[in-house]
Parts: sequence; C-alpha cells; structure tokens
Amino acid sequence: MVFASTRNKELKMSFQKALFQGLSPDGGLFYPCKMPDMTDIIKSFSENENFKNVASSVIYHLLNEDMSETDSKILAERAFPFSPKLKKINDKLHVLELYHGPSSAFKDFGASFLATSMEYFLQSNDKKAVILTATSGDTGSAVARAFYEKKNIDVVILYPKGRISPLQEKQMTTLGKNIHALEVEGSFDDCQKMVKDAFTDPELKNINLSSANSINLGRLIPQSLYYFWAVNQLKKIPEEQQVFCVPSGNFGNLTAGLYAKYWGLSIRKFIASTNQNDVIPEFLKTSVYTPRPSIQTYSNAMDVGSPSNFERMQTLYQNDVESMRKDVRGICIDDDSTLETIRKYNNEFNYEICPHTAVGLKAAEIYAQKHPFDHITVLSTAHPGKFLEVFNKAVGHDPELPLSLLELKDKTKVSEVIGNTLTDLKTILNKMYR
Ligand SMILES: *Cc1c(COP(=O)(O)O)cnc(C)c1O
Repeated sequence: MVFASTRNKELKMSFQKALFQGLSPDGGLFYPCKMPDMTDIIKSFSENENFKNVASSVIYHLLNEDMSETDSKILAERAFPFSPKLKKINDKLHVLELYHGPSSAFKDFGASFLATSMEYFLQSNDKKAVILTATSGDTGSAVARAFYEKKNIDVVILYPKGRISPLQEKQMTTLGKNIHALEVEGSFDDCQKMVKDAFTDPELKNINLSSANSINLGRLIPQSLYYFWAVNQLKKIPEEQQVFCVPSGNFGNLTAGLYAKYWGLSIRKFIASTNQNDVIPEFLKTSVYTPRPSIQTYSNAMDVGSPSNFERMQTLYQNDVESMRKDVRGICIDDDSTLETIRKYNNEFNYEICPHTAVGLKAAEIYAQKHPFDHITVLSTAHPGKFLEVFNKAVGHDPELPLSLLELKDKTKVSEVIGNTLTDLKTILNKMYR
C-alpha cells in the first residue's frame, strides 16, 4: 500500500518513509490513498483466530510493499505480546478491553507497533535514531514502554515538571536504559515548542531525530487490527446491526476503525463519543467545524479541542459531511453522566471502568434507546487503575490495580530537570549524542 498527504494526493510515500517522517513535508497527514479489498483475508480467519494471527495477516496485506510475509509475522509476534479481550455485558452490548498492554491503555497497540517497526527498519538499514517527544501524560508512558530496550533507538521524553500524575511520571522515569526523561520547568506547550524547534534546528542535523506522536501512521495502522479481531469474534452478528462506539479525543482510534470498514470489515456504523470537547459531534450535527481550546474534564485523555485526525476523516469522505454522517454518529457526554456511569457499572455489574470507557458506555446507552436491534461494541481505552481519583470520586473506593501499575510503587524515579528553552534541550542532546 502507498500513502499520500491529506493536502496533496500526488505526494506519495512508502510506509517506511512515512513512518520516519511522521508528518508529510507539506504539513498534511499520511493516509492510505488506495483502499485494499481484504474480504478474502477476513473470510479466511478461523472462528477463534488469535489476535497475533489476525494482526500479522492484516499487516502483511497492508504493508507487503515494505516487508515479506515472514517479517510481518515476526513483527506482529514482537509487537503484540498482549491481546485485546471482549467482555459481554448482555446480548446487545460488548466491551472491547484494549488496556491489557504494558502501560494499561489502548495506546500500547499503536506505540508498540511503531517502536517494533522502527527497530525493524533501522536494523535492516544499519541506522540509528533518536525519538524526541513531548507528553502531557498518557502518550509518554505508552511510548516509553514500547521503545524500552529496542535496538538502534534512543528515546528522549519531555514533560512539564509537576504537571502530570505521579503514576504517569513513574511510568516514564523508572525504565532507564534507552529511555531518557527530561523534566521541563515549564508547561506542556513549552515542551511541545522545544521539540518542534529541535526538529528544524540546523545544529541538530547530525542527530537522526524522529517523532512518535499520535499522527504517525505507525501508530494509526495497528489501531485497525483489534477491529478485525473483534468483528471475527462477533461474526454471528449481521453487518446491518454491527455498531462500534469509540471514546474519542484526537479521533485516531475512530479513523482506524473507519479504514477497517472500507477495507472490507462488516461494520455498519460508528458512534463517536466525546466528553464536552464535542467539536466533531457538533460538526456532524451542524456541518460547521469550529476547533477551539480544550476544556478540562474527568476523561482527560480526550480533552482535545482540535482533533488532529479530522483532516484524515475529511479526506476519507471527500469533504462531504452527508456521507460521513451515514457512517458516524456523534454523541457528547458530560462529567456528571461519566461519574454516574462508572458508578452504575460498578454497582450493577461489578465491573470497574475508566472515565473514557464510561463516556463510551453512556453514549451506547443513548444510541440503543433509538436502535434497540443494533449490537454495540464499546472500546474500553484504559484500565480504571490509571484514573484512581475519578474512579474513587464516583464509587468511594479505589479500583483494583493491574500488575504493571502495582510494580511501579517500589521503583525509583530517574529524570533530569531542564529549563524551558531550545538552548537547554540542545545542550543536553549535544552532550548525549555528539
Ligand atoms: C488517547 C486516549 C483516548 C482518545 O483516543 P483518540 O485516538 O485520540 O481519539 C481515549 N481514551 C484514552 C484512555 C486515551 O489515552
């Protein structure tokens, strides 16, 4: 498959090139410019095909211009030592749990595939790279875990000192080896600016810098894989009743699902559930797109006021809001309903969910009132243990913690405090890599 820029469909690139570039040179995002037909592959899966097998078949079909069949198998094996799980709530509702990876959030799928494929290409070209990334929390922990001990790659993560949760900080600062955490005396915006400026600085040209942010194709493509696995598990449900509900912020997860649908997967509709940062639900209702500064909510990994993947969605539907509306229904959920839903699932089903998953489940409930025959699968994006405070506020006690988070308690933080200018960052980078 070949990828093109959302801003110029003549600007084409292989997966390998797009992976290391991140953003297209014209500022656009890379998207698959020809939709492959994967119906035969989908039919070939056995009833209980495991996630790795589904992943390696789909990856091979998508990336066969960049790697052999054997290599895509090896890549899937290495990238996914963890799997999604499906939990049945009732005959019309399942939860697709995507948080059983190393950082306990769905971003592990994207980050792990990105890291594994970068390692694969760097090793085969005998090259080295430094991943430079800024984080306000969630992305950094998934990236750090994904790149840990990868060959030919070093990671430098910038985060705002004192402004991320202690748990997230520990996830990034306790690994060591090729993962370096820089604690910036400034805001997240400062961190982002420093990273952005570093990429264009002529004095850093001799370091092979690359990014790992969420717009990278290497993170987007693998997010389609669990839709393939889940639909195969739910094969008995007819296509016209198959609905997926995706708690969304930057809309990468949802965009990957839309691609999977156009590659042949039987999904009729997507529910885009958001918190009060509802730019896209509003667009679907009014046809007017008004990006704006984000507001803080309990589901803070979805506090996005200008969703980066909107550009990919517009390209997919050729700027026709009517056809996007046929596939995507937007539903916005407020903070009170989020807490209420966490409480409800805890009390009625003895099921602990994170605030983002609660946004999805509440939206599914609203949708189901008007569509009683549809089957809805809600994507569960994080383990509730990552959002202790909100969970506790809803039900009055802490959720159970996954092993990956429990282990962090005894580990020591290692980081370096730096100022908030490009010069501070350059000094460190030059010391490390010259
Ligand atoms: C990143 C994130 C989301 C939003 O995903 P997008 O692909 O940006 O829409 C939802 N929930 C959690 C827990 C996340 O970390």
